[in-house]
Amino acid sequence: MTKIEIRRSGYGVYLRIGDRRYGLDRIDSKLDVDYNLISHAHYDHLPTKARGRVIASPETLKLAELRGRRYYNILNEYKDVELYETGHILGSTAFLIEGKVLYTGDVNDNDRIILRGFNPPQADILIIEATYGSPEYIFGEFKRQVNMLLRFISRNIIQGRNIILRAYPLGKPQILSIILKKLRNVYSTKRVERYNNAYRRIAGLKLPEKIVNEGLEEPFVILAASNEDLTYLERYNPIEARLSGWTLKFGGGLPISDHSDYKGLMNIIDKVSPKKIYTIYGYAEKLASILRENGYDAEPLK
Ligand SMILES: [Zn+2]
Repeated sequence: MTKIEIRRSGYGVYLRIGDRRYGLDRIDSKLDVDYNLISHAHYDHLPTKARGRVIASPETLKLAELRGRRYYNILNEYKDVELYETGHILGSTAFLIEGKVLYTGDVNDNDRIILRGFNPPQADILIIEATYGSPEYIFGEFKRQVNMLLRFISRNIIQGRNIILRAYPLGKPQILSIILKKLRNVYSTKRVERYNNAYRRIAGLKLPEKIVNEGLEEPFVILAASNEDLTYLERYNPIEARLSGWTLKFGGGLPISDHSDYKGLMNIIDKVSPKKIYTIYGYAEKLASILRENGYDAEPLK
């Protein structure tokens, strides 16, 4: 039987199947591998310098370049690695490696307007993200998340309140700007528009082009990055809401996420029906222990 070795390396994963060495996402930059598989263009998954030959979706490579990470030595044809859309952000993919090991990267099992929800293949070994791998993180279906947001917006707009919605700038804001297209006075900040524009350019999507400027019409909704300085908007006395699964724990917004919730992760695991599960990121320890209680062979990746 082929020997398989799996362990953490940096922010990523080192995988060895027989003689072949794979680096998954942002591995230690000194580690030698034959292939560097990159699941998506969020910084915590992008290697600063890729190792070996690079496998990633064309969208991921383009978004990475926009974020200052240009990779060389890109492999366009390969037969031992299969890519599956994960529905997390534009271009995000899982990798089925040599038909045996499935690495999810970040996933969302909901269909969301422009992204198809993750529909995983079966695999013997599953390496799955556990960002929200704890039972208190239930966001509900995407439709429910959107309804919650629309109720929040209408409740405040009716009262003439201006609204700022903050989120990680690459991912949610692009989907939400399409959903909110029919509303008047929806603006994106320049930080968000940068990625809106990338979605237009890379995927030919029609995203609205209203950018925050001097002449804001009120009441407005602004899509902004989580950490950008918006003190120049203080005179509008806006109400702010963060859009993130973490708001279930820390408050301050609405649990709208680019990730699967706990239930979604469990559904994915059921579909993959793996013999061995490694959990990674977020609630890795907790999810592994719950899975063990449910009869799976599971452990957090160390
Ligand atoms: Zn991500």
